[in-house]
Amino acid sequence: MVAPSSKCCSLFVDKLPNGSEKGTYYALDLGGTNFRVLRVKLEGTRSSTLEHDVYRQAIPQDLMTGSSEDLFDFIASSLKEFVEREGDISELSLDRRWELGFTFSFPVKQMSVSSGTLLKWTKGFSIEDMVGREIAGCLEEAMTRKGLNMRVAALVNDSVGSLALGHYHDTDTVAAVIIGTGTNACYLERTDAIIKSQGLLTTSGGMVVNMEWGNFWSSHLPRTVYDIELDADSPNPNDQGFEKLISGMYLGDVVRRVIVRMSQESDIFDPISSKLSMPFILRTPLIAAMHEDDSPDLEEVRRILRDNLEIPDVPLKVRKLIVKVCDVVTRRAARLAAAGIVGILKKIGRDGSGGIAGGRSRSDQKMRRTVVAMEGGLYTGYTMFRDYLHEALTEILGEDIAQHVIIKVTEDGSAMGAALLAASHSSYPVDSVQLL
Ligand code: ADP
Ligand code: MG
Repeated sequence: MVAPSSKCCSLFVDKLPNGSEKGTYYALDLGGTNFRVLRVKLEGTRSSTLEHDVYRQAIPQDLMTGSSEDLFDFIASSLKEFVEREGDISELSLDRRWELGFTFSFPVKQMSVSSGTLLKWTKGFSIEDMVGREIAGCLEEAMTRKGLNMRVAALVNDSVGSLALGHYHDTDTVAAVIIGTGTNACYLERTDAIIKSQGLLTTSGGMVVNMEWGNFWSSHLPRTVYDIELDADSPNPNDQGFEKLISGMYLGDVVRRVIVRMSQESDIFDPISSKLSMPFILRTPLIAAMHEDDSPDLEEVRRILRDNLEIPDVPLKVRKLIVKVCDVVTRRAARLAAAGIVGILKKIGRDGSGGIAGGRSRSDQKMRRTVVAMEGGLYTGYTMFRDYLHEALTEILGEDIAQHVIIKVTEDGSAMGAALLAASHSSYPVDSVQLL
């Protein structure tokens, strides 16, 4: 079973938002394929709907491997344009700066709730001059260069943002899982259970533990030749092993590697397409589309093979074989993610067994309602992945327990949660914040 990675770290998130927050806050979400800017107005009472504006944009590929200044200037410019377009500058009094939650979803050594240094890049990003630098400071410098007077009040990763939003809406939320371009998870732990205690108490007496589970590995995890080759060819070999088996950045490429092997070892794709040898040409949404092709003739599979891989017409039985490959790769990913979720539930005693430390048996332990916040395009956009994940959860936990475990999608939660955390860690006391 999956246990937290040795690289996991407790966080300085000491005040989860509770609804008393007031004012207008911004958030930036950077950490994968898409980049989001968001603005939320908080009224000081917990609300089931939070009024917010959001702007999404794909991150230009060249910025992922360029210089830190270019990347941060780009996000500061997008933020400034958003503020000018959506915001009302007159809302801000002269003695106040806007406050921002920054969702930065790469491994970070957290120094305080609003600062941390980058440990390493993942998910295809590689900007060497950034490693070891303090992230919030880099963003604040870029914002200053762009003439934007804003302070980073919270620096979190996507899973922590999702947990904050999930917990705000539903206090039974005990963990958050991200399955998008990459994957990560965090959970609420009782402070006394944390050995590496370096954070602060939350108001509820718990602490948010950022697992960095994308980097989890175990000798029990079987790795195929395709996984080994994908890892060796990646910008971060020997790193993020769990992520490479599970997340959206990689699944399409695992499938592509299997098809390459099939084309080399048989003549079913004769002549061999040169497109097929291009890494990452087969994106995960394409394997989802092939997998979910329910036309009797597998027309969508035919179209994708032709248009995206330049593989001319292949017989139906070969198209069926490709669907099978998508199925196997996706099912493995979903089941591993489910095992990770059960690992968390076990750790915090929500798997119906009374917890790792608890001696009580399943039968005398009443299972509490347990909510896991979920976010990420792979989970929300790929029905078969989602179905396999749920199926595995039920299989591992048993139906009696699984019915108490609710997976709840927190849309834009990673950004929204960061804005809420900026509010709960605002340097302006609630009373001094004008209701806008
Ligand atoms: P991030 O915040 O990490 O950029 P998102 O949550 O926006 O990620 O999800 C984007 C990723 O999710 C894409 O890179 C892709 O891998 C995956 N994805 C998005 N839509 C689908 C889909 N329909 N089917 C399969 N995977 C998808
Ligand atoms: Mg995200």
